[in-house]
Amino acid sequence: MSSESEKIVHQCECDVCRAGTDTATVRHHRQMNLFLSRLNEPQRLWYVGLLSQKADGVSDRQLSLITGLDEDTIRRGRRELEAELADVPSDRQRREGGGRPPAEKKTRR
Ligand SMILES: [Zn+2]
Repeated sequence: MSSESEKIVHQCECDVCRAGTDTATVRHHRQMNLFLSRLNEPQRLWYVGLLSQKADGVSDRQLSLITGLDEDTIRRGRRELEAELADVPSDRQRREGGGRPPAEKKTRR
């Protein structure tokens, strides 16, 4: 029942963390992965997609090493953000009405 707190946090595999020389970066990447481990899957995608847009340029490949997500996944997150998450309904925007999908129209005689 304590499984919530035992989620596996991805270990960064970037060169800096492997060498372990830049402790600030190591800590930053560890926190990123900790944060990611608490998000649900779409949120993870979008966060990484957002990071990949930064001008100071972490490449998709680098992000993939840091987060353990593959580059396709990162690109997908970025695309969804660029599309303003149009295809992704937010929780707050519940559909008006009963919430049941409209029943099939029976127009046949
Ligand atoms: Zn790292």
